[in-house]
Amino acid sequence: MQLTRRDFLKLSGLTSSGIILSSLGLLDLLKPAKSYAQCLKIKYGKETTSICAYCAGGCGVILTSVGTKLINSEGNPDHPINQGGLCSKGNALYQVANNERRMKDYLYRAPGSDKWETVDGDWAIYEIAKKIKALRDDTFIEKDDKGNVVNRLESLAVIGGSPLDNEEAYLTSKFARALGVVHLETQARI
Ligand code: SF4
Repeated sequence: MQLTRRDFLKLSGLTSSGIILSSLGLLDLLKPAKSYAQCLKIKYGKETTSICAYCAGGCGVILTSVGTKLINSEGNPDHPINQGGLCSKGNALYQVANNERRMKDYLYRAPGSDKWETVDGDWAIYEIAKKIKALRDDTFIEKDDKGNVVNRLESLAVIGGSPLDNEEAYLTSKFARALGVVHLETQARI
């Protein structure tokens, strides 16, 4: 980040104001107002505990929502791993649900095409299922060269993403193993 002279003066002004307020004991006076402001945003919401989805650290978070709208996310002070702290990625969890730049459409690029087109979600899932079935039908290995029953599918790899929570990762691995997939990994471990 480039810091201009103006930014520097503003910042040093803020810092010294903080030091002055602190030395006068005025920061303590501000605490109740700050606590009250923090309560306001979550007062009418429903709290749910969850796990940060961004890495294998597994930090605990508290999510607050009103209906289906997430209104706040913060570190869970009762969680043994992070004890309330979150790194910058964890702190940005709120943006997963509140981000106008997040892609919400299914994009498909047909074989040989040079452009993406928006398609219906049901169609996309059906197409993926069809391709997986065709691949499995063609390449499933029941026995190895020595005649041992192996029942495996080596032509398909499955990789989970960090945004998957534990339960989703569990279901993904069960699904993959049911197909016979042996090349199974999660991005959170890479
Ligand atoms: S808060 Fe940071 S360290 Fe903790 S799980 Fe999320 S990404 Fe990993």
